Amino acid sequence: MNFHVLTLFPEMILQGLGTSIIGRAISKGSISLEAVNIRDYTLNKHKKVDDYPYGGGAGMLMQAQPVYDTWKAVREKIRARGGNEENVRVVYMTPQGKNFCQSMAREFAKEEDLILLCGHYEGIDERVLEEIVTDYVSIGDYVLTGGELPAMVMIDAISRMVPGVLTNEDSGETESFSNYLLEYPQYSRPEVWMDKRVPEVLLSGDHKKVEEWRLEQSLEKTKKLRNDLYEKWVEENQEYFIKKEKREARRLKKERKKGKLI
Ligand code: SAM
Repeated sequence: MNFHVLTLFPEMILQGLGTSIIGRAISKGSISLEAVNIRDYTLNKHKKVDDYPYGGGAGMLMQAQPVYDTWKAVREKIRARGGNEENVRVVYMTPQGKNFCQSMAREFAKEEDLILLCGHYEGIDERVLEEIVTDYVSIGDYVLTGGELPAMVMIDAISRMVPGVLTNEDSGETESFSNYLLEYPQYSRPEVWMDKRVPEVLLSGDHKKVEEWRLEQSLEKTKKLRNDLYEKWVEENQEYFIKKEKREARRLKKERKKGKLI
């Protein structure tokens, strides 16, 4: 997976993503990251890339020409490498876009190349957006000073879905949002901390019981913290509750037989 970030602040992208898991993924070649400076492509002799918006209003706007020429240069590089530059998606980071989420990260991770366009100041001249952008993505309903942090957020989340980036590939699959549910609570050493014990089932060594407990915990947590997601899960997993009821009925019958219940 190759990320190409079009930005006025390439050092921000490279410094922000050069460490830890993403930094290692870049070093070992699971992903590649280039940050291309839009200013390098301006035809303005003073290296200007922005100007006042027509019609007035606050702030400056990034001009179409430098953005367009940066995009053309990146596409040319992808073509020269033998990539499919015609179909490369161009994602504009914008508070006006569709909210970024885990399923989007999973979908973008299937691309071979991805161009991420970062705006700054008041944004970018609409005409170049119309010309090159395929996806408009927001990282939330608030306004930031630039698209660099959103691009870094996206690259981090997408990279984790690329095979080979996480050392334990399973972990991407069992985490929060992997199937609408939030992840179950996790515990590490020591067994008792501030009088709080690790739940007994996790020490039992019974993998089936651990899995059942984790699913129950995920359901409880999701219902409490994100009822919207819980309802989606319930809608798609009716058979879970039917099986659970049957299991419970069998358990009660057994206990009655043993004389535990009247
Ligand atoms: N005038 C624009 C508007 O009202 O939609 C906001 C411009 S914002 C100050 C500058 C740049 O930051 C945008 O062009 C965009 O690239 C980025 N940005 C700001 N907030 C964002 C968000 N929530 N998600 C993604 N990108 C964002």
